[in-house]
Amino acid sequence: MSHAVYGMMNLNVVKFLNNSGKRFPVNLRLSAEETASLSEDVRFLEDIVVSGKAFAQLGTLYFDTQIKTVIERPCRRCLAPVHTQVDLKEVFEVSIPAGVDILGLSPQIVGFILASLDPHPLCRPDCRGLCPVCGVNLNEHPDHTCRDADEEHRKLRDFLP
Ligand SMILES: [Zn+2]
Ligand SMILES: [Zn+2]
Repeated sequence: MSHAVYGMMNLNVVKFLNNSGKRFPVNLRLSAEETASLSEDVRFLEDIVVSGKAFAQLGTLYFDTQIKTVIERPCRRCLAPVHTQVDLKEVFEVSIPAGVDILGLSPQIVGFILASLDPHPLCRPDCRGLCPVCGVNLNEHPDHTCRDADEEHRKLRDFLP
């Protein structure tokens, strides 16, 4: 018998509440199309898949899950797309409001994914970025030089930590 619940990361909590302390499998999936509105900073290239177990106790659900997806963000230096494989193990708890049968977990799950990401994604460790004067991609044009690159301008454009 499958306990899988699919769609918008909504978990039916009735069986958890009716069987306090008993672990049930959790299998949630959010399609890549459904993730479009979740974050302005990242693009999800694959479905978000959450698998694991959970049990309820005194109005709280305790999760032990694996979260997987693939995301794309622009390189902080040259804006080229950077793909990141997300594979997280997350143990967390969510309180169940009284009278609620369906719990939406998207905010939690997406929060874990975003928190796990390097805030300074680079297409490669030695990315040369864009010319601070004219914007030419210096990875593609390593010999490029603009006359007198303004030093202040360069600092403003430098996203290095
Ligand atoms: Zn880059
Ligand atoms: Zn230039």
